[in-house]
Amino acid sequence: MKALINIDYTVDFVADAGALTCGKPGQAIEGKISELTQDFINNGDLVVFAIDVHDEGDEYHPETKLFPPHNLRGTAGRKLFGNLEGIYEGNKQHEHVIFMDKTRYSALAGTDLEIKLRERGITEVHLVGVCTDICVLHTAVDAYNKGFRIVVHKDAVASFNPAGHDWALEHFEKTLGAMVK
Ligand code: ZN
Repeated sequence: MKALINIDYTVDFVADAGALTCGKPGQAIEGKISELTQDFINNGDLVVFAIDVHDEGDEYHPETKLFPPHNLRGTAGRKLFGNLEGIYEGNKQHEHVIFMDKTRYSALAGTDLEIKLRERGITEVHLVGVCTDICVLHTAVDAYNKGFRIVVHKDAVASFNPAGHDWALEHFEKTLGAMVK
């Protein structure tokens, strides 16, 4: 069984005016990430939207020192970007569509995602979203350590940093044993 993990494709991370945007490279994957998401939904496979959430001025959160405020709880910046928002809204009652908060780069850090995957017998995770070399990377590392097979869709991940993006794609394949397609 497989699942699609949609990582951080939100207004703040993708739109030109987003608080911590990866900009044009992020916008360029809108078609592919939407298509893959719709395909997984149509096939009855699990689709998880694993979306960063922060509380303003959280002095204990390590990202507070690193980045400007982003993906704040309840704000428009935390909505899914572009077509993906409509796909989510149109399918959110579906039992195989889950929207979950995450507070760290990895979707598997401090969340119940692993339990949700295991209870459904899922052994293969497909990763899409942003940024390739931050949240997608950290999720892939955790998935590797937990023994999941990993597929990264290279036309549905993006970063503000082209060198980081390329490095991460190679790392997925050569070091984490992922299929990059
Ligand atoms: Zn964050």
